[in-house]
Amino acid sequence: MFKLLREIVKRGEVTTKYPFAPFPVSPNFRGKPEYSGTSCIACAACTIACPANALTMTTDVRADTRTWMLNIGRCVFCARCEEVCPTGAIVLSDQFELAVRSKADLMVTGEFTLTRCRSCGTPFAPAKEVDYVMAILVRQGLPEEEAEQRRALYESCPECRRHADIMGLCKTSLVQRAKAGR
Ligand code: SF4
Ligand code: SF4
Repeated sequence: MFKLLREIVKRGEVTTKYPFAPFPVSPNFRGKPEYSGTSCIACAACTIACPANALTMTTDVRADTRTWMLNIGRCVFCARCEEVCPTGAIVLSDQFELAVRSKADLMVTGEFTLTRCRSCGTPFAPAKEVDYVMAILVRQGLPEEEAEQRRALYESCPECRRHADIMGLCKTSLVQRAKAGR
């Protein structure tokens, strides 16, 4: 008996006070993903990387919107989304108390306006993503006016860009042929 009491005194308190006091987690703990709609550019990188299909995107071409969705109920806390996000819009936090009263409370969403293609008018890319690309060009040293001149290119859908490339190639080939006298 005394031996046991001595052992208890020697070891001290081995349990934690949780849930009456916060439970400290390790610095690399992967808890609930925290999302910032302000930083997100709706690039979809995280939705492609997510192995659990917890991240999805839907496009409404009539409303010109794209909706980003996180279903925390499906998340496996792998942090792939955090790794691939170019803007730091999604990071895994230290939160682990995820119980909710309704399934709807497990959903996080963000809505983004789509840019319409300058040529055909089809909504195709989030306006924030286009602005992000423009900002990168300026950050890389391209003068702002030149970057703005390229905006038309980035505000054209892939189909119209492909069409413009083909037309450009045909034009070049015709000019070369004319010069060669063929
Ligand atoms: S942590 Fe993993 S499973 Fe959860 S949303 Fe991010 S990529 Fe998907
Ligand atoms: S990777 Fe980041 S910026 Fe891109 S859609 Fe996901 S959260 Fe938004």
